[in-house]
Amino acid sequence: MSETNTAIEPGAAPRSRAGKLLSVVVPMHNEAEVLGAFFERVEAALAPLGIAYEIICVDDGSRDATLAGLVERARRDPAAKVIALARNFGKEAALTAGIEAAEGDMVVPIDADLQDPPELIGEFVARWEQGYDVVYGARADRSSDTAMKRTTAQLFYQVFNRVSDLEIPESAGDFRLMDRQVVDALKLLPERNRFMKGLFAWVGFRQVGVPYVRPERAAGTTSMGYLRLFRFALDGITSFSTAPLRVWTVLGLASAMVATIAALALIGRVLIFGREVPGYASLMVVILLSFAVQMMAFGVLGEYVGRLYQEVKGRPIYVVRARIGFDR
Ligand code: UDP
Ligand code: MG
Repeated sequence: MSETNTAIEPGAAPRSRAGKLLSVVVPMHNEAEVLGAFFERVEAALAPLGIAYEIICVDDGSRDATLAGLVERARRDPAAKVIALARNFGKEAALTAGIEAAEGDMVVPIDADLQDPPELIGEFVARWEQGYDVVYGARADRSSDTAMKRTTAQLFYQVFNRVSDLEIPESAGDFRLMDRQVVDALKLLPERNRFMKGLFAWVGFRQVGVPYVRPERAAGTTSMGYLRLFRFALDGITSFSTAPLRVWTVLGLASAMVATIAALALIGRVLIFGREVPGYASLMVVILLSFAVQMMAFGVLGEYVGRLYQEVKGRPIYVVRARIGFDR
């Protein structure tokens, strides 16, 4: 998944965009402020590409005028299609709804706030024609993020890439172009816990990154607070790794070994030097520490059991309230 690889990969057949359809998929939560600018930029970027396109906007339970704006747009713009979810299901669910509804030979998920420059799609299509199945936008730097967000993101990717069998490029977001084959593979993954970046990586295929500088949000405010990002990170790691569960086996074995050695040493000492007054402080430390470790193990177990419970219930990932602009 080299970002600088410009050669056509071996075995990759060149493709042509002629007669193909491109689906742009946009999850939207309270994006009324950027709606107009978004459509203007996207359509200006897509028009010169010489390819038919549809823009599937998924209203993820917005509380502002997003849906009204979308409906109005779909009325006069044949490329615009709208899926209104029954409530706020979260970006990953909204993205899933849009990807499942997309009919294109290529599918491009993109944020509504113009942090993913639509002008890059032209380059994505060119790379797709070279034979790549996935072309992702690779953030050249994260200067538009706060230092705190940069550090936590970096930490997350380090942990994720270490504990899972997958490798998610740290620079990649959801902004990418996927071939129909990739989308069909993605649609086979039934899990409710949808860490999209992980799912994208899981399906594989020939991938390449196109570097870009990620600008700030065009207008409006982010829906992703730190608490939400933390939960999101937990979702990501638990979906793709059981390492956090196995850690406790190792830790348990290690402490059993230490305890055995300590017990043997203590018995030896009593046999040689006779009985001594037991140390209250050291006993307390051992009890508290082992209690804490056990609680943490329970906590980790709980994270997995809770997610297992959610998967087992098998509820749908999202509920659609209305579809506008499809079938025409
Ligand atoms: N989004 C969504 N549902 C949510 C939160 C966000 O569909 O519950 C959409 C949002 O409208 C935007 C994209 O996901 O198109 C990225 O969200 P945002 O810009 O708030 O996140 P950030 O860029 O700060 O990570
Ligand atoms: Mg954003």
